[in-house]
Amino acid sequence: MNQTRVSKTIAVIEGDDAAPEVIQPTVELIDRMDLGITWTYPLVGEAAKAETGKSFPDVSRALIDQADTTLFGSTSGSSGSSLLYLRWGKKTFANVRPCLHLPGCSSPLANPEGIDFVIVRENLEDLYVGVEGQLADLAPLNLVGRTIRKPIHELGVGRFAIKAITREGSERVIRFAFELARTRDGQKRVTSTQKHNMLPVTDGYFLEIAREIATEYPDIEYETFIVDDFACRMIVQPQHFDVIVMPNLYGDILSDGAAGLVGSLGLAASGCYGEDYAYFEPAHGTAPDIAGKGIINPTATLLSACMMLKYLDFEDAATHLQEAIASVYAEGKRLTPDQGGTASTLDFCAATAERLNI
Ligand code: ATP
Repeated sequence: MNQTRVSKTIAVIEGDDAAPEVIQPTVELIDRMDLGITWTYPLVGEAAKAETGKSFPDVSRALIDQADTTLFGSTSGSSGSSLLYLRWGKKTFANVRPCLHLPGCSSPLANPEGIDFVIVRENLEDLYVGVEGQLADLAPLNLVGRTIRKPIHELGVGRFAIKAITREGSERVIRFAFELARTRDGQKRVTSTQKHNMLPVTDGYFLEIAREIATEYPDIEYETFIVDDFACRMIVQPQHFDVIVMPNLYGDILSDGAAGLVGSLGLAASGCYGEDYAYFEPAHGTAPDIAGKGIINPTATLLSACMMLKYLDFEDAATHLQEAIASVYAEGKRLTPDQGGTASTLDFCAATAERLNI
């Protein structure tokens, strides 16, 4: 590969269940691209607990801090604190989830050609701030619901969750979306989506900020849809969209829906970007039902690795890897079972490596 040699370090967390089955061959494949990458392996979860007594010891945290980025395999259970650190500790506020049709993949749509949009999901706030409780605890505040027209604690026994939308959190992710639209070929359009009719104070604020920031980018077309309307449009007319920015919960749900548009969760890449750190992970979970079978689709992890290589300024390598993956789909002979094929995870990776001549 003809790349400038700048030494980079990538921390690898292999994850649980079937996740290591896609992380390991991805690391192997990138290593064979000979980019001079150093790999480190912070211990997390049960393995770390057995060795150090803690599921996320300081030494693992230091390895993440010292690395240029982290490649993260999905985790379950006790590995979760490393993910909390990568997200809230490193303030990776923009979760970028591309939805790209690769000709040859098994989309359920009659006409998936040309689908190429990116969901930018706010990653740190909204309902994910983690404040929940008993409705009865709200009695001293005497909060009257705009729609129910009585104090919330009078609804009866129940629970609540807090949705927090901040100016800073919204500004940075919306600005990120506009900057991303500038770098992409094609439509140069940002869509914001939120439920501002029912939630005028919180989602209305997100929309207000999006409209403000849009005025700073006269070269980018801006539009907005209420999130339920957007969900329908994303399915009926996915080719219309370019970059879509939204609060956390909607992004979590709709990006999995978007993965379904192009064929499978096994194709959905993701990167989480902050001011000075980013980490990359497939959008899918640990796929426990197929763990150990060697058939998990590695495409989501490989495409996440493309995003990671781009972030590390290995632009050419990222392009070559993405083209190699696309070419395996175009040929269609060595696809995994979720894509209607009979290839194993390692077969798919071998086919990709062959196209890279490595
Ligand atoms: P988690 O709790 O870790 O999110 P989950 O089972 O709820 O796990 P996923 O791991 O995303 O959620 O899996 C959902 C379904 O999609 C499962 O049937 C799984 O096997 C399938 N799946 C997920 N990722 C892939 C993949 N890369 N290749 C093939 N199938 C996949």
